[in-house]
Formats: sequence, C-alpha cells, structure tokens
Amino acid sequence: MDGGSDGLNIAVVGAGIAGLATAAALERAGLRCTVYERSQRLAAVGAGIQISPNASRLLHRVGLAERLESVAVRPEALELRRWDDGRLLGRTVLGDRCEELFGAPYYTLHRADLHSALLETVRSDVRLGYTCEGVEELERHALLRFSEKRTETADVVVGADGIKSTVRNALLTDRPRFSGQVVYRGLVPTEAVLDPHDSVPKVTVWLGPAQHCVFYPVSGGRLVNFVATVPSEDPWQEESWMATGRVEDLRRAYTCWHRQVRQLFAEANAVTRWALHDRDLYPTWSTARLAVVGDAAHPMLPFIAQGSNQAVEDAFALAASLGSCGGQIDAALERYQVVRVPRVAKIHRESRSSTSNFHLDDGPAQQDRDVTLRDVHELHNRSWLFGHDVESSFES
Ligand SMILES: Cc1cc2nc3c(=O)[nH]c(=O)nc-3n(C[C@H](O)[C@H](O)[C@H](O)COP(=O)(O)OP(=O)(O)OC[C@H]3O[C@@H](n4cnc5c(N)ncnc54)[C@H](O)[C@@H]3O)c2cc1C
Repeated sequence: MDGGSDGLNIAVVGAGIAGLATAAALERAGLRCTVYERSQRLAAVGAGIQISPNASRLLHRVGLAERLESVAVRPEALELRRWDDGRLLGRTVLGDRCEELFGAPYYTLHRADLHSALLETVRSDVRLGYTCEGVEELERHALLRFSEKRTETADVVVGADGIKSTVRNALLTDRPRFSGQVVYRGLVPTEAVLDPHDSVPKVTVWLGPAQHCVFYPVSGGRLVNFVATVPSEDPWQEESWMATGRVEDLRRAYTCWHRQVRQLFAEANAVTRWALHDRDLYPTWSTARLAVVGDAAHPMLPFIAQGSNQAVEDAFALAASLGSCGGQIDAALERYQVVRVPRVAKIHRESRSSTSNFHLDDGPAQQDRDVTLRDVHELHNRSWLFGHDVESSFES
C-alpha cells in the first residue's frame, strides 16, 4: 500500500459519503489513503438528501461548489405544515439568507449526485470487492482482514462502514436499536405535483399524529423526493433494513392526510422501505490507530437531516487532526474524538427527541408545540448547527 505525503499510510473502510468525504479531506490535508469498499459496484442507495451550510462549506473547500450547484436545488424555505388542513406552523427562510448568515448554501439533492461528485474528486485508490471482516491493532501498525483471506496493513484505519460497522466492533460491543418506525422513500416528477401558483423550491415537513412526511426538490428541480415515516411493530430488522415497499401501504397510511400529501403519493410508482435504526451515542470513537466516522460512529434518526452532514464534519475534523499531528497518531485520533463527541451528542439527542415532538396526537401538547415552532425555526436559532466550521477547532 502506498504511503501518504508525510509517510502516513491510512486505510478507509467503506466508500459511502463518510468514506469518500474522508478521502477527499485527507487529500486536501496532504495525506493519501486507500479506500476499501465491499460492493463490487458503487451505486448510491436512497433518494434525496439535505446538505446544510455546516457541510456545504466543507464540500466547497474540496472543489465541489460548481458541481453541486449544477445538480442541487437551493430551497428558499423550510415549511412545517399541519397534517389535515395544511396550515403553516413554522417557516425557516433559507436561500440567500443562509449564505448571508453562514457563508454557505443549503442544498437539497439526490444522494447519488453527491456520491458521484465525491467519487470524481477523490484521487486515492478506491478498491471494490473488499469486505472488511476484522481489524486488529498491533504494536507498529493495524492489520485489516478482508474476505477471501486478504490482509492489508495501515498506520491508521478509519471505519466509514456504516451503521453495521465492522471497525466499530473493535471499539464497542453495542448493537443498533430499532426505532419502531419505518420510512418510505421515493421520487416523483415535479410537473406532476407542482402547484402552478407556488413554484418556490422548498422543504415541506407535514406533521401529524404518530407520523410525518417530508418533500423537497432534487435533480436540479426535476424530481420531488419524499420521505414518509410510519410507525411499525414489525420486527423485520435483521437481514436487510432496506427493501422494496408497496406504494399501496404508503397510501393507506396517509389516507386521511391533506390533499397535497395524498396527491403526491398518488404519483409514486415505486418506493423503498427502510426500518429506521440508530445506536446510543458513546464517547469512544478511536483508539491508538483506529477511528470511526459517519454512521459507523454515530448512526442517528434522520429527523433533523444531519447524518451525512455530520459525516462530512467528521471527515474534515479527522483530516485536520491527522494533517497537523507530526506523526503523533494516537494524540491526533484522541483530539478528533474530544472535538467531535460533544457536538454530535447534542445533534443525536435532538434527532431522537424530534420523534416524539413531530408525532404528537392532536391535543394540548401538540398545541403548545405549535406555538413554539414559530420561534424554534427562525434561521438564526440554528446558528449553533449551521454556522459551525469544524476546521476552526483545529486552528492553532
Ligand atoms: C430516510 C433517511 C433520510 C436521510 N436524510 C438525510 C439528510 O437529508 N441529510 C443528512 O445529512 N443525512 C440524512 N440521512 C442520513 C444519511 O443517509 C447517513 O447518515 C449517511 O448516508 C451515512 O453515510 P456513511 O458513509 O457513514 O454510511 P453508509 O452510507 O452506510 O456507507 C457505508 C459504506 O461502507 C460499506 N461497507 C459496509 N460494511 C463494509 C465492510 N465490512 N467492508 C467494506 N465496506 C463496507 C458499504 O457498502 C457502504 O458503501 C438520512 C437517512 C435516512 C435513513
């Protein structure tokens, strides 16, 4: 395996958004790595993704501004609406205001577009068909064991291998937790659902008893992405958490909802169905030679749309720490963990608490919530989240 510019030999396990963002950030810090991915072909699963200024500012630094502008949409606002009558409950102005306040845009885009943009920018070797089966820390290096009895060594191993991470198993013994909810995801053509009187691109969150759904434009505005949660007792959890869903089940779950919601689901031809899992947030993200990033470190519920955004922050934090460590790998990994854990813990907590807050039955608690939504969603109240520049924590 090749060494990096300062001699460090870094192995990244997983070529999802976290793994590729890590490779891009390491390269920018003057370090090179090898990425090992279990799939034989890189095809991003999922549909839409929201990228907020805390991550878009970092993606721009690795040269992705132009590319993202060509495929993403800049929503003008995030609107919260009531499930039955569509009443506006809260509105966060995004668009230009995001740039003014935080110096970076808010994007909605297809996950595959972000994934290919990252893949095209990465110069490191990305090896496909490498399933990591275990990592071991030895005195002078780490040993990676792959399928078909292949082994590699590295000075540092970065686990970017998602919620069921193998690298994480070397750090912790916990298991993913089923949230009791499934989500249906899909795409519909914009012209089929667009209200001609309202062509402003926006993220709309429809809140109702026990469930909610989110719509936003992707693919330069040609498609609308939807994510719809539905409560589920279904213990279907272990084998695959992502499966083809039945559009009829989705429509049935939203039968009594507002006309615009029903109309959009009526246009859907296909949906995927995901069993939503997260894990408790632990403060152990690294050892002397191993570190985890993205869902391998902190899988969270998607309700404040921060899983990938935090993966990108992890990537740049780790690269900044390793890039300035002067060979002190364990100190660099420790610093990465110390900087990242408190911030992600807050976001992880908010992602979980959003579940009950979003899904209140109609009644006094819901009415109290609706009163507060107006203030909570003022853009300047999100400065702690969107205004954060993770690299500033590593400037000496
Ligand atoms: C419904 C839904 C909506 C979401 N919306 C948003 C959003 O709007 N904004 C946002 O920021 N986040 C969102 N997220 C979260 C986001 O999708 C995840 O946090 C993010 O994709 C995690 O990326 P990752 O690279 O860490 O993990 P993954 O995407 O899981 O990638 C892991 C990679 O590692 C590979 N791998 C796994 N095991 C091994 C192994 N043993 N050896 C080698 N390779 C391996 C996998 O094949 C894969 O390529 C959403 C999630 C869901 C479910």
